[in-house]
Amino acid sequence: MEREIAWKKYKDEKEKKKVFAFADKYKEFLSSCKTERECTEYFEEKAKEKGFVDIEDVIEEGRELKPGDRIYATNMGKEIALFVIGKEDISEGMNILGAHIDSPRLDLKQNPLYEDTNMAYLDTHYYGGIKKYQWVTMPLALHGTIAKKDGTNLNFVIGEDPEDPVFCITDLLPHLSADQLTKEAKKVIEGEDLNLLIGSIPFADEIKDDKDKKELIKKNILSIITTYLKDFDKENGSGKYDYKEEDFMSCEVEVVPAGRARDMGIDRSMILGYGHDDRVCSYPTFEAVCRAKKPRRTVCGLLVDKEEIGSVGATGMSSRFFENVVAELINLSGDYSDILLRRALSNSYAISSDVSGGYDSIYSSAFEKNNSAYLGKGFAVNKYTGARGKSGSNDASAEYMGKIRAIFDENDICYQTAELGKVDQGGGGTIAYIFGNYNMNVIDGGVAVLSMHAPFEVISKVDLYEAYKAYVAFAVNA
Ligand code: MN
Ligand code: MN
Repeated sequence: MEREIAWKKYKDEKEKKKVFAFADKYKEFLSSCKTERECTEYFEEKAKEKGFVDIEDVIEEGRELKPGDRIYATNMGKEIALFVIGKEDISEGMNILGAHIDSPRLDLKQNPLYEDTNMAYLDTHYYGGIKKYQWVTMPLALHGTIAKKDGTNLNFVIGEDPEDPVFCITDLLPHLSADQLTKEAKKVIEGEDLNLLIGSIPFADEIKDDKDKKELIKKNILSIITTYLKDFDKENGSGKYDYKEEDFMSCEVEVVPAGRARDMGIDRSMILGYGHDDRVCSYPTFEAVCRAKKPRRTVCGLLVDKEEIGSVGATGMSSRFFENVVAELINLSGDYSDILLRRALSNSYAISSDVSGGYDSIYSSAFEKNNSAYLGKGFAVNKYTGARGKSGSNDASAEYMGKIRAIFDENDICYQTAELGKVDQGGGGTIAYIFGNYNMNVIDGGVAVLSMHAPFEVISKVDLYEAYKAYVAFAVNA
């Protein structure tokens, strides 16, 4: 069974333009939103523009929900759920699109700054599954927030503006790498050596106290951070926040590849960028939910954090957040009862929207040709994910797969079925099984990615567009 190349569908230039225009908007989003906090802020702002109202405000007003109402809820600034209320009761079930907005990266430790041999460094702890050797010698940027003791936050980005400095983790020169190059790939660069080089000029002001004469480069770094923060301190206007080393304790700073997402290929058919996993599903999910006007069933878009480390914690899919918000919606729609909440969840249909490993002919031995996701063949549906014998997978029922097929075929969606690589080679999980725990029908589906989890990943623009169309079709018709 061969599936068609999606580009063949877009024969005339007018149609092709829509694919490229959608990709341009996505590229903008991908370039400016590199952390879960930045994604949440972006989606909240865009949602407000499109008529979505914060559920907290609706609760305060005590207003009853009616079909067509647009509601959103955020969780600790790292997760957002969006709803367009349907004509049917929520307890009849929702059509849910779930994706994640966290990506593999390096996080600063809570005591990260140190000085060694006249160089200052920031120590990191990697987040998610990375090949550590890929993260050395490339320009890196800092995206972070400082939670100050006064309860306010100071957000900052250093390394994205072309005028900004960037940072990097160094590697050993080949001339002296006789030992290093005989190591296993996972040990060539060790996690504890992922230390970001950030400065080398000692503090210059006159220092009277002898004990303060140590670690002058570190001291200089702290004073420069203070100067930088001046530009980001919106609360205090031009007033400056005197940054102390202790402030790292309540910082969340993510070290990510610096620079914008770019068109890739001489035909511009692809996008090279950081964090396609899983923003290439989050972005079209958001756009699809916004398209819903007065749907039959309530449409929900859920964009969660912490997928890359197992969906754990308050802002991950395992948290009660989603369930609690649905409970609030039922409460706002009339009389709340526990049974209505359970029905709402178990009667729902979901697509767990996450990326698939795209078939790569250079590494063909890791893939099984007949059941791989191909770049350019449209939306990739995974009946199951998991590793080594479907372990950890949500295996969608044949009946639900049949329903999905019918929706996609009726709506002219270009799609393919896939699983992640050869059976014994490895595998991966998504948030699907957590939806499954509510006893709802859920299937995995998303966009094929090359070099997944690398600092820069590759996707096809036509797959992004087909994903968007698939989500719209699902939201309205499931
Ligand atoms: Mn993912
Ligand atoms: Mn991933």
